[in-house]
Amino acid sequence: MAEYDVDLFVIGAGSGGVRAARVAAGHGARVMIAEEYRVGGTCVIRGCVPKKLLVYASRFSHEFEDAAGFGWTVSGAKFDWPTLIANKDKEIARLEAAYHANLARASVEIAESRAVVEDARTLRLLKTGARVHAETILLANGAHPVLPLIPGAEHAITSNEAFQLAELPRRIVIQGGGYIAAEFACLFHGLGADVTLVHRGDEILRGFDDDVREHVRSEMVGRGIKVILGQTIASIEKQAHALQAVLANGEHHPADQVMFAIGRAPNIKNIGLEAVGVQANAAGAVVVDEYSRSSVPSIYAIGDVTHRLALTPVAIREGHAFADTVFGNKPTKPDHINVPSAVFCDPEIGFVGLSEAQAREAGFALDIYREQFRPMKATLSGRATSVLMKLVVERASERVLGVHIVGEGAAEMVQLAAIAVTSPDGGVSFFRPANRRRRATASRPPVGENIRNGRFSARRCRPARW
Ligand SMILES: Cc1cc2nc3c(=O)[nH]c(=O)nc-3n(C[C@H](O)[C@H](O)[C@H](O)COP(=O)(O)OP(=O)(O)OC[C@H]3O[C@@H](n4cnc5c(N)ncnc54)[C@H](O)[C@@H]3O)c2cc1C
Repeated sequence: MAEYDVDLFVIGAGSGGVRAARVAAGHGARVMIAEEYRVGGTCVIRGCVPKKLLVYASRFSHEFEDAAGFGWTVSGAKFDWPTLIANKDKEIARLEAAYHANLARASVEIAESRAVVEDARTLRLLKTGARVHAETILLANGAHPVLPLIPGAEHAITSNEAFQLAELPRRIVIQGGGYIAAEFACLFHGLGADVTLVHRGDEILRGFDDDVREHVRSEMVGRGIKVILGQTIASIEKQAHALQAVLANGEHHPADQVMFAIGRAPNIKNIGLEAVGVQANAAGAVVVDEYSRSSVPSIYAIGDVTHRLALTPVAIREGHAFADTVFGNKPTKPDHINVPSAVFCDPEIGFVGLSEAQAREAGFALDIYREQFRPMKATLSGRATSVLMKLVVERASERVLGVHIVGEGAAEMVQLAAIAVTSPDGGVSFFRPANRRRRATASRPPVGENIRNGRFSARRCRPARW
């Protein structure tokens, strides 16, 4: 009889857990995966996928507005929120079924239950009380949106609820300055809501390039979103037919919904981790080594619960690398450097590599190539908008350290730039030791050249400042 019921027990059937389970099973492991809510996890059920569908819906209003200058009459266009939500739900259900089928095809057993850790190799399924002994445990249980401790917080929503509202709010106040807050502000505005974005910092999108932050905020304001900086919501009052968001400065903002997008906390509580000695860091995330192994040798962790880079492709990559390392006899470290990212606000952002501030902080002498121009489509549509493109280039080697784009199609465009920036020898690691920063190899030209040789020419842009 086998010593363990399974070789691998995965907690959480989200992006990372599903990939890890399938790849481990492909390597011959006996795998069980527990999911307490819906298979697919945050990205599929209440994250990237539904958000993107709502973003698409929200952009039609801009298209209708822009069409008039091109001779179109689009009269009588009406939006119906329940239709959008029902169609979105149908698509999510289809994806969830596909995830189920893929796990079954890989011979991964699904336990539809919350799982808790009892000891370093034992789990309990709360639905049935059953115990499962596993040689290896993988924590892939994600994170959750946090609410502030303020009076009336119970009346507020987070992104979880935003996808299931019975009706489109006519007025919404959103607190947050990160990408999720910016995306929801733009999508609700595009769908016709009156949107106020409140952020405690002095600029939205902390961590992004400063030019991008300023550009996106002024575009949002230009489109009619109210952005209030240096403020927080101090309380929420419930009235007969509406809510009042009361800011710290005493301002009252009436709203049908108040939403918080102020961060996501790793799911480390109430699953037995403290008792078995799994270490967490100050951010409340599971501490792991380069191979995603926690402080308990039989327990690994990937994805948002480790709070390394909370993005779906990263969770998937970490899950794959874990399975190859532990079950495929192929030790693999997931790479967190130069991960291209997109934000689906309006206009959207695509970027890869270092911001100008990060590059300066890392000690690079830089050339900055920055262009801001009116897209041709805006001439006839009359829309007051501009595209921003910025390259952060190391002066001595002319390698491109960072690419930042704001404008229609930025998310797609940056994928191409990312191939050059992340090419094995050309890309620059933020963490690479100083003596290796200037390395260029004989076999591959530095990335600056890759890009210059293509159509995306750094030289064609005018250096805006040094
Ligand atoms: C609104 C929103 C938009 C986003 N947009 C993007 C985007 O555009 N691009 C992008 O790359 N990323 C995006 N993300 C982030 C992305 O969704 C996450 O980084 C990704 O889903 C993390 O995957 P994961 O496997 O770590 O966790 P998850 O996908 O969160 O999966 C964890 C799973 O574990 C389950 N679980 C938790 N505890 C237990 C337990 N004890 N027992 C059993 N099951 C448990 C949960 O129910 C969940 O299904 C977005 C997130 C949000 C909230």
